[in-house]
Amino acid sequence: MEPIIKISNLSKIYRVGTEKVVALDGIDLDIIRGEFCCFLGTSGSGKSTLLNVLAGLEKPTTGSIKIKNISIEKLNEKKLAEFRQKNIGFIFQSYNLVNYLNAVENVSMPLVFRGISKKERIKRSVDILKAVGLPKHLRHKPTQMSGGQQQRVGIARAFVANPDIVFADEPTGNLDSRTSKEVLDLMIGLSKRNNKTLIMVTHDLNIAKRADRIIYILDGKIEKIEERERVGG
Ligand code: ADP
Ligand code: MG
Repeated sequence: MEPIIKISNLSKIYRVGTEKVVALDGIDLDIIRGEFCCFLGTSGSGKSTLLNVLAGLEKPTTGSIKIKNISIEKLNEKKLAEFRQKNIGFIFQSYNLVNYLNAVENVSMPLVFRGISKKERIKRSVDILKAVGLPKHLRHKPTQMSGGQQQRVGIARAFVANPDIVFADEPTGNLDSRTSKEVLDLMIGLSKRNNKTLIMVTHDLNIAKRADRIIYILDGKIEKIEERERVGG
């Protein structure tokens, strides 16, 4: 199978005063289309940095990231923004919803940038909010929803523009275990059903176990990779 993401010799070094922090240290990895892969590691191991660099939110210090054969580290700001709008969805641990917008308006945001008419934006947002189980919260603002409901809105927003790749950084980190499972089921369901690539960060092995592949991150390097056996291939 052809990789959707090819990562080679990726490093990220932060300079803090005179100190150098090596957050990523020579990462090589291919990610297959439709795969659910998980970066697992302790706090400070470099998981979020890796995710942010792959999603084009931060520039690497060395190395390259090819997504659908485009080296994203070489794109200028405008081209990168366009590329991200077209290909990438992102789910945050703290939801990152806009507080003065209701659920439909929050979910519509990625569609505004893609030049879709208002009527069509509302229709698509309402449809996906129903699909994530929030038919009764369309006009609710973030402060009027529970954490789990807010994350469902976050998931709807990540998937609404139909991106090929969805990144999620500790998406269940602020949720109780029952809600975590519901949110995880939802993300996995939406991505598998549409053959989307899901790349998630967690420090929790029980969550990582749901993935097709677990990539253990230690000190900015890949420590080991575990593939889950799939029934029926
Ligand atoms: P994780 O998500 O696994 O907890 P991070 O990727 O956030 O780890 O951080 C990896 C390392 O890089 C840590 O040592 C962290 O302190 C450092 N780091 C992350 N972001 C920055 C930054 N903007 N400036 C300086 N150091 C950073
Ligand atoms: Mg992190």
